[in-house]
Amino acid sequence: MGQLFDKILIANRGEIACRIIRSCRDLGIKTVAVYSDADADAEHVRRADEAVAIGPAASSESYLVIEKIIAACKETGAGAVHPGFGFLSENAAFVEALEAASIVFIGPPRGAIAAMGDKITSKKLAEEAKVSTVPGHMGLIADADEAVRSSASIGYPVMIKASAGGGGKGMRVAGNDEEAREGFTSARNEARTSFGDERIFIEKYIEEPRHIEIQVLADKHGKVLHLGERECSIQRRHQKVIEEAPSPALDDATREAMGAQAVTLARAVDYCSAGTVEFIFDKNNNFYFLEMNTRIQVEHPVTEMVTGIDLVAWMIRIAAGEALDFDQQDLRMDGWAIESRIYAEDPFRNFMPSTGRLTSYREPKASDLGEGVTVRVDSGVVEGSEISMHYDPMIAKLVTHGADRAGAVAAMQQALDRFYLRGIRHNIPFLAAVMAEKRFQDGRLSTDFIADTYPKGFQGRVLPTALKRELLAIGAALHHRLAKRNYESIGGPPAGDAPFPGDWDVICEREHWAFDVREAEGCFLISDGQADDIELLLDGPVGARLVSCSLNGETRVLQVEYSGPGWVLTHAGATLEILVLRPRAGELAALMPVKKPPDLSGFLLSPMPGLLVSISVAVGEEVKAGQQLAVVEAMKMENILRSEKDGTVLTLHAEPGSSLAVDQAILEFE
Ligand code: ADP
Ligand code: ADP
Ligand code: MG
Repeated sequence: MGQLFDKILIANRGEIACRIIRSCRDLGIKTVAVYSDADADAEHVRRADEAVAIGPAASSESYLVIEKIIAACKETGAGAVHPGFGFLSENAAFVEALEAASIVFIGPPRGAIAAMGDKITSKKLAEEAKVSTVPGHMGLIADADEAVRSSASIGYPVMIKASAGGGGKGMRVAGNDEEAREGFTSARNEARTSFGDERIFIEKYIEEPRHIEIQVLADKHGKVLHLGERECSIQRRHQKVIEEAPSPALDDATREAMGAQAVTLARAVDYCSAGTVEFIFDKNNNFYFLEMNTRIQVEHPVTEMVTGIDLVAWMIRIAAGEALDFDQQDLRMDGWAIESRIYAEDPFRNFMPSTGRLTSYREPKASDLGEGVTVRVDSGVVEGSEISMHYDPMIAKLVTHGADRAGAVAAMQQALDRFYLRGIRHNIPFLAAVMAEKRFQDGRLSTDFIADTYPKGFQGRVLPTALKRELLAIGAALHHRLAKRNYESIGGPPAGDAPFPGDWDVICEREHWAFDVREAEGCFLISDGQADDIELLLDGPVGARLVSCSLNGETRVLQVEYSGPGWVLTHAGATLEILVLRPRAGELAALMPVKKPPDLSGFLLSPMPGLLVSISVAVGEEVKAGQQLAVVEAMKMENILRSEKDGTVLTLHAEPGSSLAVDQAILEFE
């Protein structure tokens, strides 16, 4: 090994900063974290050897300020910078400024970033390098009229895209002239505000596509390798949610062809470091170049798990001038890996971002899962951490690896069940529901998967009856165990007396289920007089929030909340609220009137804490269902709030520019 750096500054935050610190540690390199005011107590600051404050919470005043990063390097004597992803990772001016200050950038050369950072330029470059690109119009689109003409000549549907786009922003699908006109205008506006660059181009929209990308790794000595593919077709609004390696769609020949094109393109821009060439893959197995990301990618762990290669460590070694010490034919893909992005968002409220403190936070551990599988959690938080509205809502990445795809999926299901997180809303129920979908398990993926599977949004998984029965039986046993312990702790029955009765009425969604719970040789036998008895072994103490059990020999993990006779059971993407009562109490409960929740339909409530950017309607205005009412900004995202029904605006309760609490009223209807 050549001479590596003494000290690296990480110009990022959150999980990716922690991930980079880990590789630096492994290589024996000291680390410097930078942090904004909002991140003074953040985990990446604690894990680094040193840390430098770089200004206010807004990233435009801290993480994005080139001079502050360079000053922090000088102050600490860091000889190199790893930019992570987002922020300054694909900023050619940053690389130039580092060069001028004689600090090494851990990433590709400036020229490659500049060429690939622009979608129009990179597409032209790809075409010259004989890489297949999405058919379309290669030039800039000047105005809405030209957008319509160009779209019609490409043939609908088309994708209207910002040349400077990233993170799924500045992108619109259009199916006709009117949508092309509208899409052009809104994509251009979004591009101007998000990227300060309003250049737009148009290409064919590939229908029911898969997103498949190739990881490349190149050193400064002319060796360019590819590390196989990742499939990232599970997307919401063109943003990735679940990724895997390899892809269930590729055969060896196609993999080789895509890998060869990715390598050709990397060579064409004299690439070095880790990079990703993204392709869109159509129903007829044609693939087309989308863009190249000249940085480490969020989903890089799945590639690391199947190849056994530490990509971040290689980025560092390559930046220090080391040569790759293996060749294309040395690479072996082992098993299957899946990554779920754990986001601070409310899947039941249209994935609105959620902020606050992680009052409980426990990650699943590899030792809790079965034989032959591994789990890796890349995170930047601990119990008590604050999820702030200033940054990306990703909390952690949960990655599982198994011998095959089914093994990786099963491990992911268990790991999601075991991920215990409270204090904020999160998307674990949604991820677990996707894992349970037959279409997902069969590997029939496309970027439309989420929209197709949840056309009306996500309302929680509806469990098959057999699984629901099992969960309710577990609920009955948990309650039985607790009630019996309480009974015994106040004296209980004298020895030899009648056993503690085991008949329970479990009420769930207004249905009554009668269970009889008996204890036999350390396990529970539960019958409901219908199907066969259930044999249940409960692990762990009474009162545990995470219950692992063996049900008829199969492991099931539930998250459990208890209050009074009520329990909330969470498992496999479903949340069941149940009451466990004695049969007589159950009969009486059935006679109770149902409490109606207060009618709040006359109000537009803020679904999250954030900034009220604008109100789109005036007092007295008639609105239609689906009409835009207000825009709220939180976590770098503008969220459009729409009317749920027709009505007339009665009063405005908040002004643009004011900050909103969750459920704060913005306006009221008649
Ligand atoms: P990946 O392909 O690595 O998953 P994403 O497109 O999801 O990449 O983006 C990774 C991170 O970088 C996200 O935090 C995203 O918000 C941010 N990001 C990506 N492109 C840009 C950009 N052009 N400007 C600002 N942030 C970006
Ligand atoms: P970003 O820089 O935001 O990541 P990409 O060009 O990589 O932009 O596109 C993001 C996603 O949008 C893709 O993964 C894909 O789902 C969708 N997409 C982009 N271009 C097309 C296209 N021409 N046809 C169909 N889907 C597309
Ligand atoms: Mg992309």
